[in-house]
Amino acid sequence: MQHLLEIKDVSLNYHTLKDETKAIEKISFYADNNEFISIVGPSGCGKTTLLSIIAGILKPSSGTIFLNGTPTYEVKNKIGYMFQRDHLFEWRTVLQNVKLGLEITKNKDESNLKYLEELLQKYGLYDFKDKYPNHLSGGMRQRVALIRTLVLRPEILLLDEPFGALDYQTRKLVIQDVSDIITREQKTSLLVTHDLGEAVSLSDRIIVLSKRPSFVKAEFTTNLRKIPLIEERKKTDEYKELVEKIWKELS
Ligand code: ADP
Ligand code: MG
Repeated sequence: MQHLLEIKDVSLNYHTLKDETKAIEKISFYADNNEFISIVGPSGCGKTTLLSIIAGILKPSSGTIFLNGTPTYEVKNKIGYMFQRDHLFEWRTVLQNVKLGLEITKNKDESNLKYLEELLQKYGLYDFKDKYPNHLSGGMRQRVALIRTLVLRPEILLLDEPFGALDYQTRKLVIQDVSDIITREQKTSLLVTHDLGEAVSLSDRIIVLSKRPSFVKAEFTTNLRKIPLIEERKKTDEYKELVEKIWKELS
């Protein structure tokens, strides 16, 4: 069966003048339509490196990434990226911020602008479209960043610790919010996080990376996404058992 995304034997070595760092070694896994996959691993093991390769920002030393069977270096703009910081431009309004990607990729046509307006309406941002980012809460800023990515209609959404910069209370709300939007928009997502609770409660599958040079050490499957509320997922035995198993795998 052909997978939506297939990462095949991907390795990357960083070269500096002095030495070479083996960051990741022969990583392989796949993602199917509509799946939510988390990637966990020790700090510095190469998680950001891996996402950058999938996004096409970094070229792997060896190995290939396939999207619908085609190597990703041959397809453009199919993969959306969301970072820890929201990277909104303070001097642009919400609307100007979410339009930016369409402008850069020269996709600012009627149908995309309509889709953009729909997303803003659907997710409660339409009334804020002429406001500047500093008038928004941390949670709303993340939602703007997510919509800016979604409007490009990516086939895969990459999230690199997108909740890391938020305080505890905001974080809980934003995680539920982002998770609901991703489910509703049926976006295949890869989330990098160091928070095991986040990984387990949000995902269909969790991929555990070893320490550097990292490879896929273990993989776990959950049924937790059937439960709508993340707080409820966290009360189940399945959740508790998985967090413990992954914790053991990492230590
Ligand atoms: P993680 O996101 O899992 O914390 P990274 O992917 O950021 O890890 O980094 C993996 C390893 O590669 C680390 O040891 C880091 O120091 C090294 N590294 C990251 N970026 C570069 C770079 N541009 N040049 C050299 N080494 C790098
Ligand atoms: Mg990182």
